[in-house]
Amino acid sequence: MIDYRNIAPRIETSVELLLRNKMWISNKAEIEDFGLELQTRIRDSSRVQKTVKFGKIPSFRILGVATDVNNHGIGVGLGRSRNKVDARVKSFNNAKKNLKFLLLGCGSLACDKNCTKEHSLTKRTTGKCGSTIALLMPAELGSGIVASPRVAEIIRQMGIKDLRVKIRGSRNTMNCVKAVYEALLSYTRE
Ligand SMILES: [Zn+2]
Repeated sequence: MIDYRNIAPRIETSVELLLRNKMWISNKAEIEDFGLELQTRIRDSSRVQKTVKFGKIPSFRILGVATDVNNHGIGVGLGRSRNKVDARVKSFNNAKKNLKFLLLGCGSLACDKNCTKEHSLTKRTTGKCGSTIALLMPAELGSGIVASPRVAEIIRQMGIKDLRVKIRGSRNTMNCVKAVYEALLSYTRE
């Protein structure tokens, strides 16, 4: 493992400062203050029906993901509404309220011992959602992201270059994304 204390300190961005103090960015005004450029995407959407006395009420359930490629941030949110557009907006707003930023590094054993590039995670991390378990493992420099296309796209949009993701259990998209998010939530570099 690399001793991060020996790495020359670089000028910290305000987001990194927040990270060290284990704080979260949780409202829209703050996102603008920090000049974050978030990418928001729909990762899963489904139409659900609620049966009532006089018939069925259709509604939409959308899983939105917000990512920040510069600061390696991710947020996941769920939006429910009878209107598809409203559900989408709600999911994005919820995703932006749950942002987590990661400090990257290199924890790959296959990598050069002195690798100080911030291309992967520093250690393994796991997350669970329902019966889905996601295992995220550091990968060698240049090996790319090994994961299902949907998960790989999210990881890529967080600015992580190399990572291996193993999914066990149900491969339902919503569960997979949430399990990966849970794994990233429990990750800390130090
Ligand atoms: Zn490395």
